[in-house]
Amino acid sequence: MTTPAPAQRKASVVLDCPPAHVGRCARCHQPCHRYGFGGNPLCSTCRETVEAARQKKPLR
Ligand SMILES: [Zn+2]
Repeated sequence: MTTPAPAQRKASVVLDCPPAHVGRCARCHQPCHRYGFGGNPLCSTCRETVEAARQKKPLR
């Protein structure tokens, strides 16, 4: 079992997920809940940005 890096442990407390589920956001490279249940390759900030941009462009 590998010991998570201090930054990863800290992020897991903030994000309320196991340290093993912490990864880098695909967009801004900040630590985010990336893996496992409820994980997302984007952090919540980037998710909002992407979501807002998506809603501006009407799907055709
Ligand atoms: Zn991000």
